[in-house]
Amino acid sequence: MLIVMEANATSQMVEKVCTEIEKMGLKAHAMPGAQRTAIGVTGNTAQVDSDRILAQVGVKEIIHVTKPYKLVSREFYPENSVIEISSDVKIGGDKIIIMAGPCSVESRDQCLRIAERVAKAGAKVFRAGAYKPRTSPYSFQGLKEEGLKILAEVRKQHNLLIVTEAIDTETLGLVAEYTDIIQIGARNMQNYSLLKKAGQQPKPVLLKRGMSATLEELLMAAEYILNEGNRKVILCERGVRTFADHTRNTLDLSAIPFVKRMSHLPIISDPSHGTGRRDKVLPLSRASLAVGADGLLIEVHHDPANALSDGQQSITPDTFDKLTKEMQAIAAVMGRSC
Ligand code: PEP
Ligand code: MN
Repeated sequence: MLIVMEANATSQMVEKVCTEIEKMGLKAHAMPGAQRTAIGVTGNTAQVDSDRILAQVGVKEIIHVTKPYKLVSREFYPENSVIEISSDVKIGGDKIIIMAGPCSVESRDQCLRIAERVAKAGAKVFRAGAYKPRTSPYSFQGLKEEGLKILAEVRKQHNLLIVTEAIDTETLGLVAEYTDIIQIGARNMQNYSLLKKAGQQPKPVLLKRGMSATLEELLMAAEYILNEGNRKVILCERGVRTFADHTRNTLDLSAIPFVKRMSHLPIISDPSHGTGRRDKVLPLSRASLAVGADGLLIEVHHDPANALSDGQQSITPDTFDKLTKEMQAIAAVMGRSC
C-alpha cells in the first residue's frame, strides 16, 4: 500500500501518518521524492482501515500495489534511485560506474598491483573477495580478515572504493567495517537472514541475481533489504544457468531493461561471471551498456593463468584499458558518461 501525500504536506504531517501506520502494527517507509512524498506501507495491509488514513491531514490518496514487491517497485518510487557511495561516486545516475579487480584477494602485492592499473584506467570501485563461496570445499576459501585489511590498504593507496562479499551473518558486521559496498553473491540471494542483516545496517548492498532466480525473485530478495530500512541496494545481473555450454552462464541482457521498468533500483552487469570466458567479457560489456546497465563488475588479473579463482574469465589490465576506453565511447552514445 502506498500513501501519497499532498505536494505541500509538511514533514510533521508525514510523521503523524507514519505514527498512525505503526499503531496499526505495520511498517511505514517515508519516501521523499522530487514531485511528492509518499509513504510505503508494508506488512499485512489487508486489515488497514483506509478511512482512518484518508482522514489524516495532508493525505492525498491511497494506492494499492498488486505486485508482491512493494518498496523496490516503480509504483512506490517513480524516479530512479541514485545510490551515493561517496561524494563523487553515485550509482544509478548519468555516470556509469566501473567496478574491477580480481575474483579473490590473493595477496597484498597482487591487489595493489591490479588496483594501480584499474584505477588508472578509470575504475572507481575495486572488487575482490576476502570470503569466497566456492563450489568445492577444497578450493581456496579466501584470506578472510587478512584480505579485508589488504582491501583497506588498496582504498588508501589508490583512492578506490571497495566492494567485497559477505557470505554469512556471522561475518557481515566485520565486512561492513572494511568495505564501502557489501556484496551478496548469487548463492546467497535467497539467504533471508543475511538479507535482513544487510538491511539493518547502513552500507550500500550489491545484490547479485541467483543463478536460477527469476527477476521477481531477485526483486523480492531486494525487498527484504529495503523492508529492514536500508534503501541503498544495487542489483546485479550475473548470468543464469541455461542449456548453453559455450559459456559458463548465460548473461540475461533482457533482465536489465525489464528491471529498470519494474524497479527504481540501479542495476549493473557482470559479464565476467555472466559468461565465464575471458574473450566474451568485452563484447558483453558493450552490450550491457547498450541495454542500459548503470555499471559493470569486471574481473581483472595480472596473471590470469595462475589466479586462485576464476582465472578463465579474468581479463588482463591491458584488455581492461581497452574496455574502459570503449565504454566511454558507448556511454556517450547512450547520453551518459563513464
Ligand atoms: C564473485 O563476484 O566473485 C562471485 C562469487 O560472484 P557470484 O556470486 O555472481 O557467483
Ligand atoms: Mn569470481
